[in-house]
Amino acid sequence: MTGLDHMALNIRIVLIKTWHPGNIGAAARAMKNMGLDQLYLVDPVDFPSPEATSRAGQATDVLANATIVPTLAAALADCALVIGTSARDRSIPLPALSAEQSAQQAVAEQTQSPVAIVFGRERMGLHNDEIQQCHFQLNIDASPDYPVLNLSQAVQLVCYEIHKASLIQPIRPTEAYPLHQELAHFQDHLANTAQAINFINSRHPGQVMEHLQAVFRRARLTRKELSLLRGFLTAVDKTDRRDQESDAAH
Ligand code: SAH
Repeated sequence: MTGLDHMALNIRIVLIKTWHPGNIGAAARAMKNMGLDQLYLVDPVDFPSPEATSRAGQATDVLANATIVPTLAAALADCALVIGTSARDRSIPLPALSAEQSAQQAVAEQTQSPVAIVFGRERMGLHNDEIQQCHFQLNIDASPDYPVLNLSQAVQLVCYEIHKASLIQPIRPTEAYPLHQELAHFQDHLANTAQAINFINSRHPGQVMEHLQAVFRRARLTRKELSLLRGFLTAVDKTDRRDQESDAAH
């Protein structure tokens, strides 16, 4: 055992609307086996449940300490890195990482802010608006004939990679990235300004904001860069208000 085994990693496992309580219990056990303890449940269908408790083995403490939240945004608000897991690699417009690469990045970045790894529903996986809240997608390599793993087994493999990365990797602080909540505020500000200056027609907004949001998630702006852009938007807002006032005066 190294010292790192005792240092809890600031990485949370987020399960969205899990249908089967057995999967929640098995995920808690998978986490504890690999030294993780932050379980977030977004609107679970059946929890707490005896089935979850029995599948957790000796990880009932992880279940008891699980944080239950109504929305994915609430689970991610204070995170700066969000990795969504998916069995499908097509049709998802996010940069892809292997489980191993994701684990390395998560272990490096958890020194700055909490990292979230998000798992989807047993049947439906992640919805589009949930994928849009992630920076990267994690695909576990599997047989193309049947690449869809059981939810808790996907959690197990990801937690195993995180555990391995935490043992190997010298942990040093990385760049500070904005929190999910801060990026969301920026995107709201951008949308408001875009409407105010008629870049977006509020009656026919189309997909423009979704595309811009994708750009800013992909860019992984640092905190400094984000505050620069917010300053820029504030200057645009002021100029726009001045123009409107002078139009009204004429
Ligand atoms: N039909 C769903 C499958 C969901 S499986 C879909 O198309 O997405 C339930 C969850 O397990 C997924 O949302 C994902 O979080 C995880 N999962 C299953 N197989 C995976 C794989 N090969 N790579 C990464 N995550 C996987």
